[in-house]
Amino acid sequence: MTIVESPTHLRENPFEIAQDQLRRVAEVFQIDQNLVRVLEQCKKAVSVSIPVYMDRGEIEVFQGYRVTHNIARGPSKGGIRYHPDVTLDEVKALAMWMTWKCALMGIPFGGAKGGVVCDPKQMSRLELEKMTRRFTSEIINEIGPEKDIPAPDVGTDPSVMAWIFDTYSMNKGHSVLGVVTGKPLNVGGSLGRLEATAHGALYCLREAIEKQDLALAGMRVAVQGFGNVGGYLARFLQEDGAIVVAASDSRGGVYNGDGIDVPNALAHKQETGGLEGLKDTESITNEELLLLECDVLAPCALEQVITTENADKVRAKVVVEGANGPTTPAADEILEDRGVLVLPDVLANAGGVVVSYFEWVQGLQEYFWKEEEVNQRLNDITSRAFHETWETYKSRDTTMRMAAYGLAVQRVSEATMTRGLYP
Ligand code: NAD
Repeated sequence: MTIVESPTHLRENPFEIAQDQLRRVAEVFQIDQNLVRVLEQCKKAVSVSIPVYMDRGEIEVFQGYRVTHNIARGPSKGGIRYHPDVTLDEVKALAMWMTWKCALMGIPFGGAKGGVVCDPKQMSRLELEKMTRRFTSEIINEIGPEKDIPAPDVGTDPSVMAWIFDTYSMNKGHSVLGVVTGKPLNVGGSLGRLEATAHGALYCLREAIEKQDLALAGMRVAVQGFGNVGGYLARFLQEDGAIVVAASDSRGGVYNGDGIDVPNALAHKQETGGLEGLKDTESITNEELLLLECDVLAPCALEQVITTENADKVRAKVVVEGANGPTTPAADEILEDRGVLVLPDVLANAGGVVVSYFEWVQGLQEYFWKEEEVNQRLNDITSRAFHETWETYKSRDTTMRMAAYGLAVQRVSEATMTRGLYP
């Protein structure tokens, strides 16, 4: 495994991790080695440079990527990340995980991902808009409603999706709703999309807790990351009666053993940009949050936060992976040995792509659903995927991650075999 030397959040090469996971799954689920050779590579990786006139009058050139991993089951789908640590191999790993996620959820998409190396927190709205529009133009031949459909990820939000939608549509000469998901409601977004990833994680966690004859009410939860996924998840968990003892963002965390008032925390973050100084809490570091005495740990920020260095000290009984790739494979083994139930990313955070699929369908039909309909259908799909994964986990006596990846890789393999290898 390549150890990443630069001081980023990535200690190990994420694409090598993803390839390694695939090979292990292929062994357990007896996937044909010919298929593994196809699936361990990404179909296409585009690298572009994005020159932007910054507010100070100078041109800055950003690096952007769009990667398609696989399209055997449908057009590729995946978010766009704006973060200083983005690398091509990170985007490739995230694209591969998207393929498995869509297959596990049974939605007709393949996997893709995009990223731009930038710090959106240091950029003005105008700079962000110009960068997004130029990036969209540079990848305009790669994306499209039947081809590859971007969505939000870390550092991007509905406004960024609106700029992508507008730039693409301007070039086509008409509005193309299906080119991107996670759009604002007034330009063809779906009700329930903003909350979808957190809703999916909540539905999945409810199922897991029910399987153990326990109740979410009264459980102590720690949430790392307080953005789209972590912020909504903390809110929903508290509404379900759980006690959110800690939450954090990139600047650090806050703790209150009797529970944090989540709506207050969200308002505080909105006002001040962070969680520090939140009333009735004490400060903790992100590392301390991961090791807190609690029932459920929800890593909802970035990859590789649970590693060999801290996995033996994680005290939660359940880890629900709101983030993509928060647990390294070696840490996974430690958690497994210690009997910690890990609800893997491809299952736990798939709510976002499921409602993105609903948004795409609604956009193609130009017919929009009620929010209850969106949430009910999301719950149905999440529960079905959870039960299929749980059955496989029990019948094969393996981990939830191996079961989820196994089901997904089998489905993608079957589609690939049915289509045949072109030419
Ligand atoms: P976001 O940008 O809305 O929020 C990210 C949060 O993580 C912020 O609160 C940020 O301060 C915090 N953070 C950043 N670096 C951190 C660090 N080193 N330590 C602790 N916190 C840190 O992003 P998001 O959309 O909530 O995405 C979070 C994770 O969920 C990512 O792994 C993403 O790939 C995954 N995910 C997102 C979606 C979605 O629909 N948005 C869907 C599936 C998976």
